Amino acid sequence: MNNLGIIGGGQLGMFICKAAKRLGIKTSIFSEIEDFSAKKFCDQYFIGKFNDLEILENFIRSADVFTIETENIPFDFLNIISKTKKIFPEPKIVKICQNRLKEKVFLNSLKNIKTAKFYPINNFKDLEKNIGLVNNNGILKTSELGYDGKGQYKINDGKIGEFKKLNLKNFILEEFLDFRKEISVIVCRGSKKVISYPVVENIHKNAILRETIYPAELNDKVSKKATQIATQIANEINLNGILAVEMFLMKNETILINELAPRPHNSGHWTMDYCKISQFHNLINTIFFKTPKHPIPSGSCKMVNVIGDDFLKKNQLEEKFKFYNYFKKEIKSTRKMGHYIIKI
Ligand code: AMP
Repeated sequence: MNNLGIIGGGQLGMFICKAAKRLGIKTSIFSEIEDFSAKKFCDQYFIGKFNDLEILENFIRSADVFTIETENIPFDFLNIISKTKKIFPEPKIVKICQNRLKEKVFLNSLKNIKTAKFYPINNFKDLEKNIGLVNNNGILKTSELGYDGKGQYKINDGKIGEFKKLNLKNFILEEFLDFRKEISVIVCRGSKKVISYPVVENIHKNAILRETIYPAELNDKVSKKATQIATQIANEINLNGILAVEMFLMKNETILINELAPRPHNSGHWTMDYCKISQFHNLINTIFFKTPKHPIPSGSCKMVNVIGDDFLKKNQLEEKFKFYNYFKKEIKSTRKMGHYIIKI
């Protein structure tokens, strides 16, 4: 058994392919788009729409086990694969993580785990009714398919008039948090062992991750708590694979969960340079060898995303820092084009 099928061929898929190759694992990718980052790095690929059953069948035949690089995959597609082959993580975990409402309801059902206050919104009336409950200061988010700030709207001072014309089906309203820091923890869990990567600090601008700082500057108690929470969630969902847990550290040192990603995560890219076993390597370890290894982190660094037109300055950056190119076909203003790693 040494063939891994990866659903999605973006930069995460590309890094999974590279790690797999080093460990003697062959990869095949299912991509909805023709020009995808992982194309040059996989052994085989299938390009098609998620509802193309013929391509899906060929993809299923091409690998022994499967994983994902995005949670935005139709549940039916995953379900068809899981009838005959194993997917890491199981489709039911992806189903929770691809819907903000389901994810938040689930997280709040766990002992001692909390998120920001949230309210399901399906029309303007719901918004009128609930805006007061978040002190007129909130964020409207689509429950599904929103990422990097897409489908998110900040509401200040209860000014909701502009949302009258928007179709608000399947949204949630979240209280706006005045947090101290954003942090995240990546956990890998196999049938025999669970490991966690050190807590990192994440800096976002316009809801897009700009920088990750390793290690996060935190006191021991907070750091332990964040790690314990991420491990608890991985255990509760009976994770087989990798999970990133994004959190808000509040000013009173409580931790609220922002969201879960059951796949490698942008805030874990630093692990490729500052850990003996990167997040991608450990995903492969977990899938093929049943157990993740201790990552053995060392040093300190900053990962900086290169977004949109900043990519045009990459030549200057490449001279100074280690640069990772995502080989995107075209530049878009909010598109992650690459990242670089700076020793600090
Ligand atoms: P999300 O797509 O939900 O991860 O949100 C992207 C980013 O928007 C987060 O990393 C935060 O920087 C910001 N954000 C999201 N939700 C909230 C919130 N409830 N309060 C304050 N900032 C938020």
